[in-house]
Amino acid sequence: MRIAVLRETAPHENRVALVPLTVQRLVKAGHEVAIQSGAGEGSFYPDADYTAAGASVLPDSTAVLAGAGILVAVQRPASAALQELPVGAVVIGLLQPASAAEYLAAAAPRGLTLLAMELVPRTTRAQAMDVLSSQATVAGYAAVLLGAARLSRLLPMLTTAAGTIPPAKVFVVGAGVAGLQAIASARRLGAVVSAFDVRPAVREEVQSLGATFVEAAAATAAAEGAGGYARQLGEEQQKNVLLAIGKHLPEMDLVITTAQIPGKPAPRLITEAMVATMKPGSVIVDLAVESGGNCPLSRLDQAVVANRVTILGPVNLPATIPQHASLMYSRNLQNLLEYLIKDGRPNLAPDDPITGPMAVARGSAPAAP
Ligand code: NAD
Repeated sequence: MRIAVLRETAPHENRVALVPLTVQRLVKAGHEVAIQSGAGEGSFYPDADYTAAGASVLPDSTAVLAGAGILVAVQRPASAALQELPVGAVVIGLLQPASAAEYLAAAAPRGLTLLAMELVPRTTRAQAMDVLSSQATVAGYAAVLLGAARLSRLLPMLTTAAGTIPPAKVFVVGAGVAGLQAIASARRLGAVVSAFDVRPAVREEVQSLGATFVEAAAATAAAEGAGGYARQLGEEQQKNVLLAIGKHLPEMDLVITTAQIPGKPAPRLITEAMVATMKPGSVIVDLAVESGGNCPLSRLDQAVVANRVTILGPVNLPATIPQHASLMYSRNLQNLLEYLIKDGRPNLAPDDPITGPMAVARGSAPAAP
C-alpha cells in the first residue's frame, strides 16, 4: 500500500503526520511511503531522515499523490489534493467533520473514503490511535508553560539568601486529558495546584496527582454523559459551579481552563465579574477558546488584559511543540494504519468498531497493489 504525506498548509501548522521512526516501521511492514519534500521541516524532521527511513521524498504534491492508496495528514488536506488522489483512495486526518459539508462533497465524485481522527472512539481498544488524547496531553503541558511565562511571579517555592518565596497557586478548571496534564506539569514546576470538574469521577485522579479538588454541589454523577464526557448543566447546577469557582478565584495566580462539552459551545465558567475579583498580575489560559471559551473575555490567539488580569486564548497549542506532538500523532496513526490495512488493502467494513464511526465519507476501497 502506498501511503502519501503532504506538507501541511494550514497557518502555523508545524506538525507532520508521519515522523521518520514511524515511516521506518511502515516500510518494514511492506508499505511504500511517499512524502513531499520539506513536510517535516516545521517539526525538525529533515528530508534526509525520511530518505534514510526508506521513504521516497518528492518535490511536488502531484508526484506524492500518484498511486497513493492512503493520504495521511494532520489538518484537512486542500480540496485540490483530493482531486489528484487515485479514485477510491482513503484520506485520514483531523478533518473537522462538523464543518466539512463542502469538503465532503469534493471527495464524493472520486469515491474517496474520509476517516476523521477526531472520531476515533474513546475506547480501550482504540486508545493507542486517539490523537485527541495525545494532542490534549501536549496542550495541557504547553498551557502551563505559556501561563508561567506571562506571570509576574515564580511558580515554585524558593528558599534563598534573598528570603523565602511562597509557591504560586494554580487552578485547573476541567480535569479531562489536557487538564490532568496541566495539573501534573504545574505540580512538577512546584506550584500549589487545585482543580475542578463537574464529573465527580475525576476527583481521585486529581488528588492522586497531588492537587486538591474544589467541591461544588453540581459535581454529581448526573453531570456525566455518554462516553465519560460531561453534559451541559442545568441552570441550578451551573449556578452552583459558578459559585464554587467564584469563591476560589480571588486567591489564584494562574488559571487554566479546559472545560468542553462535545458538540456544544464551551461552558462559560469565569465571568467578567469574576475576573474583576482576581489578583492583579494573575493569568488565565483559556484552552477552550476555539469552541467559544470558558471566559467571555478570551479572544482567539490574543492576550486580553482586563482589570490587570491577562487572559490568553491560544490556538493549536500542540503545533507549538511540534517535534513531540508529531511523534505522538504519528504513533497514533501508525497504530491505526496497522489496524486498518489487512492483506495490503484497507479494511473499511462499515460495522468496524473503530473505522466505522470515523468514516465521514465512504467510497470504494482501492484494489490490493
Ligand atoms: P473534553 O475535552 O470534552 O472536556 C474537558 C473536561 O471538561 C472534561 O473532564 C469535562 O468533564 C470538563 N467539563 C465540562 N463541562 C464542565 C463544567 N461545566 N465545569 C467543569 N468542568 C467541565 O474531555 P476529554 O479530556 O477529551 O475527556 C473526557 C472523557 O473521556 C474523560 O472521561 C476521559 O477519561 C475519557 N477518555 C477516554 C479515553 C479512552 O478510553 N480511550 C481517551 C480519552 C478520554
